[in-house]
Amino acid sequence: MKFLKTTLAVSSFALFASATLQAADLSAHEKMAREIYKETVETPTSTDHPEAMFTLTGNLKNRFMEAGFAEEDITLLNVDGLGGMIVRYPGKDRSKQGIGFMAHLDVVTAKRKDWVLDPFVLTEKDGFFMGRGTADNKAGAVGLAATFIKLKKEGYVPDRDLVIIYTGDEETGMVTTKHIAANRDKLLNIELIYNSDAGGGSMDEDGKPLAYSIQAAEKTYMTLLLTVTNSGGHSSQPRDDNAIYQLIDALQKVEDYSFPPRLNPVSKIMLNVAAENETGEMKQALLDFANDPSDMVAADILSNNVRYNSITRTTCVTTMLEAGHAENALPQSAQATVNCRIMPGVDPADVEHVLASVIGDDGVVITRKAEPSFADASPLREDVIAAVKYAMAEEYGELPVSANMSAGGTDGKEFRAYGMPVYGTGGLFGRKGDRANAHGLNEKIRVDSFYKSLTHWERLMKFVSGGVQ
Ligand SMILES: [Zn+2]
Repeated sequence: MKFLKTTLAVSSFALFASATLQAADLSAHEKMAREIYKETVETPTSTDHPEAMFTLTGNLKNRFMEAGFAEEDITLLNVDGLGGMIVRYPGKDRSKQGIGFMAHLDVVTAKRKDWVLDPFVLTEKDGFFMGRGTADNKAGAVGLAATFIKLKKEGYVPDRDLVIIYTGDEETGMVTTKHIAANRDKLLNIELIYNSDAGGGSMDEDGKPLAYSIQAAEKTYMTLLLTVTNSGGHSSQPRDDNAIYQLIDALQKVEDYSFPPRLNPVSKIMLNVAAENETGEMKQALLDFANDPSDMVAADILSNNVRYNSITRTTCVTTMLEAGHAENALPQSAQATVNCRIMPGVDPADVEHVLASVIGDDGVVITRKAEPSFADASPLREDVIAAVKYAMAEEYGELPVSANMSAGGTDGKEFRAYGMPVYGTGGLFGRKGDRANAHGLNEKIRVDSFYKSLTHWERLMKFVSGGVQ
């Protein structure tokens, strides 16, 4: 398969060769993966079509069984009407804990009228696969399925169990994720998880691979409601007590407050990597803070940069406001929504208490919109870094591997909340200037990046299960 790609690559057009591959040039495995990809993207698993998730998990189940997986090793989930799926690839040593591989099967809603092409038709055009979920996260979901199927058909037996975890509502409530995480001993019995929904490689504008980054931490997420109620009255007789003004005073204090800066092994790596692309004062501040998180001068300089501020501190910001009921009445209630992104290892309850004391007004009632999770960073294990280096080496060569902490939002944090290590190790490489536009309009990935991700998953799965000599 690789030989075919190379022979097709004519002189200086080598980099673009695989992007122009026609269906006939694909290996049997690539064809099979493309077929599953098409079926998966074209099953509209957004909240607009709740039944689609069950169609997709049913189709995938059939494919796994055709490849030789036993029915008892495939668990279809229905958690409060939301679908999900777990597939176990039994290994030689059943007493050993398995290794998990995760993807979410749901996608963000996409409206046909807003897109250039139908979001729920997989279109291959100009070297790209286009469609909702092509990037987030159906390429990953399909990479895992296609690799399980290939290895099974080839008779591969891992030295321990490999387990695919397909969640069904990562983009919304993570109800299925939370269910699987809470029942991980019974449903999974695994040591750690490789998550296809985060991490990945980068390339320059010409397609030259630059680096790979593992997502090893995530900020956690908490939404608070700040509510002020008042007896109200006629607007012709304003009084000192006014629900809107009282709420605004509180929000002003939230805006002015800065949480103390924090550093963890993952953000330390991120800041050092970021320093390579900065100059002058900002570069020095990145290096100084990464070296000594009690350096408040450096921390304050970083807080002037939106991105660096978000990596070094818990943040809480007002995102929605609702107040009053008539233009000629004093407001009886005013409510603000405040969204917090909490540094790993910080208890959300502490964040809530800090905000309450910063506001210092018992008349402002603080409630949680949903129960937040509390998770720490996953330790940067040498064996995980080695596995990732091995996985990408065939397609992309030897690249520097760093780690990152995302601002919050993947399934990983729900497992980290239970102390399960999770590593975002997606198989896709993004090229500078390309806009994958996950969640947005006209989502797409490079065709060759999809096929290369198949190699990534096969090598990663073999590496962690005794399949590499
Ligand atoms: Zn995702």
